[in-house]
Amino acid sequence: MPTNAKHGLAPSSSSTLARAGRCTLVGAGPGDPELLTLKALKAIQAATLLLVDDLVSDAIVALAAPGARVVHVGKRGGCQSTPQAFIEKLTVMAVQEGETVVRLKGGDPFVFGRGGEETEHLRAAGIQVEVVNGITAGLAAVTSLGVPLTHRDHAHGVVFITGHAKPGDSGTDWRALAATAHSARLTLVIYMGISGARHIQDELLCGLPAHTPVAVIQNASLPQQRQAVCTLGELQPTLEREHLSSPSVIVVGDVLQGLLALQQPLSQQALRA
Ligand code: SAH
Repeated sequence: MPTNAKHGLAPSSSSTLARAGRCTLVGAGPGDPELLTLKALKAIQAATLLLVDDLVSDAIVALAAPGARVVHVGKRGGCQSTPQAFIEKLTVMAVQEGETVVRLKGGDPFVFGRGGEETEHLRAAGIQVEVVNGITAGLAAVTSLGVPLTHRDHAHGVVFITGHAKPGDSGTDWRALAATAHSARLTLVIYMGISGARHIQDELLCGLPAHTPVAVIQNASLPQQRQAVCTLGELQPTLEREHLSSPSVIVVGDVLQGLLALQQPLSQQALRA
């Protein structure tokens, strides 16, 4: 089990163990520490043990108290085998030993973060869990482009959706979603969609026009953020040309019209008008 260099996994001091343990699921936001909520910051600073997911930036982990132990439990930390069961077991044990545990998750813990599964497990084990919201990546990504998710003229709602179904699940009916997005004027914010982008693009094109604007934002809010704006018809070639990869969100919808117009020659805009 990987830990950071400063902190081992030796038992805490007896004064810590004398207190009742507790667990807080904390949303670390998209990466920029300034996008943390005050409540998240307080919880991170109060933790004696932090169990940290992959997409939490180092700058946020660095906000932990000097004596806190930090365990990286994501795949990049090397924890490949049944990680979810392992994390849940570790959390229960630590709380029972009196630790103030923070489960630090990227974005919001209840948006594609398996936070629901973890809270269910902990509550079943008799452990109270508090949940602190974080700014979800899709929200931060679109805002970083200066574009709103909804707009009275362009989008009457938003769908946050995963491009990566649980193994065994049939996955999203993208054609039905495209038809609904078109008729109800919805912005689509697709998480974990890069590896399936070609399929998603082909299916969405069955219900949305090829000129529908799309943005792909990688590492939103971090210094290494990169993005591309194109049309739905050009999504896959744009990903390849711009070498955009995970973690990225794909945003589809007319709220991006103004941004797309800035990228296209006037002749193309006139053709569509
Ligand atoms: N709970 C997280 C989502 C976890 S799923 C949240 O609310 O944001 C992981 C996916 O989130 C990634 O594959 C990517 O699609 C998206 N993601 C997370 N951080 C991101 C970031 N900084 N920039 C762009 N996408 C990000």
